[in-house]
Amino acid sequence: MSDAPGKYIPDPDGRNADFYRHLARGTLHLQACEGCARVLHPPRFLCPGCGSEALVFKPSAGQGRIFSWTLTHRPVDPGWAAEGLPYATVVVEMEEGIRLVGGWRGTPDVLCLDLRVQAEVEPATEAFAYLYFRPHVPAHVPPSV
Ligand SMILES: [Zn+2]
Repeated sequence: MSDAPGKYIPDPDGRNADFYRHLARGTLHLQACEGCARVLHPPRFLCPGCGSEALVFKPSAGQGRIFSWTLTHRPVDPGWAAEGLPYATVVVEMEEGIRLVGGWRGTPDVLCLDLRVQAEVEPATEAFAYLYFRPHVPAHVPPSV
């Protein structure tokens, strides 16, 4: 067993709690408006597009593209040093049109704008999970004969 401290585990509340409760079950869900179909993030109580309160969480395929990233060489929380230094935190523009922030799986050397990525969930508690992204590997399609 390692003596290294673990990462801080947040205890989300409000609408963020709904987002992270879905994530803690192992899948990414995004809040969407049933009135106008707009996808929202961060989660809200009212749709900013049509004012509807009919907001539900729908599963996401977790695919998007790198919008931006930053490298951390000296983490404030020493628990993150186990990620390997420097580690990257990425901003991803999801196919649903919203942006999410997450950790990066793998070497930061491959990061570039518009890189296709796939979400990956690391549950921590029943109420919280860490969100990561890794390069998207397209499914193998055999050549047609
Ligand atoms: Zn709406």
